[in-house]
Amino acid sequence: MLSYQHAYHAGNFADVHKHLTLFSVIDHLLRKKTSITYIDTHAGRGLYPLAAEETARLGEYRDGIGRLWQARTRLGDDPLLGNWLAAVARVQARDGRLDHYPGSPWWLSDRLREQDHLTLFELHPGEHGHLARQPLPDNVQRIHGDGLRGLVRCLPVATPRLCVLIDPSYERKTEYGEVVEVVRKAMHKARHAVLLVWYPLLPTGRHHELLEGLREGGLRKIWRSELRLREPREGERGMLGSGMLVINPPWGMETRLEAAMQRVVPLLGTSCQHRGDWWAGE
Ligand code: SAM
Repeated sequence: MLSYQHAYHAGNFADVHKHLTLFSVIDHLLRKKTSITYIDTHAGRGLYPLAAEETARLGEYRDGIGRLWQARTRLGDDPLLGNWLAAVARVQARDGRLDHYPGSPWWLSDRLREQDHLTLFELHPGEHGHLARQPLPDNVQRIHGDGLRGLVRCLPVATPRLCVLIDPSYERKTEYGEVVEVVRKAMHKARHAVLLVWYPLLPTGRHHELLEGLREGGLRKIWRSELRLREPREGERGMLGSGMLVINPPWGMETRLEAAMQRVVPLLGTSCQHRGDWWAGE
């Protein structure tokens, strides 16, 4: 039974971290002409109006994209942040007003070239309904189904390059182990794929199962980027930070991401920190 709906959290600090990382990877991939298949295993709705009841209820976007939006003139001199914020500006209904936040299907389809292909998986019927109503290019395929199983079934792909985003909600504890299994299978079938995995930083430290599982599975070249808002308070259960793994990152993307994150961190609070390092080297 799926209950998670991303609309309640759209545009929060974790989305900013995830989508900036994704944007940075896509930017580097697009430097070559050869075609790319993108696969988004957990797509969500695609675009989030901030006035929607779910999104407005918690208003998490105010402490995420809201803070970057307010500082956008100052941030424009960072090449990654400047281009990323210019892309966010393009989805707004009215100039200068922040009224929408783009989800991963939007980020992946926005710069899709004729020679590229994008497959989006979404399992929740309601969420898939929203996704199905998004105007997207013809080379985007939307599948109402399980993205983890679907990813393995899709491999190998017909294009020379592959980029995958795995962004589960981790509603079930078993999802950490399931992601490890699927990543191992996917990397076995497509060794040169660039694969991004998002995970939450929780007081329970459950993400260690994911990190250790990937390293023990012998995977190499894993870049880790963690944005931590603060240390946990006594008895706290909520999300403290956001983690991204990039397996086979395009050369140089981590340096640009690091520079951008150093500009983002002070906007998110005095205890906020970013760490970027190799979780597994060559
Ligand atoms: N990737 C989206 C973005 O960045 O805008 C957000 C995705 S949200 C964190 C996770 C989504 O995965 C939810 O919409 C949920 O319904 C969906 N989901 C959960 N389990 C799934 C599965 N096994 N396969 C495909 N989608 C799944």
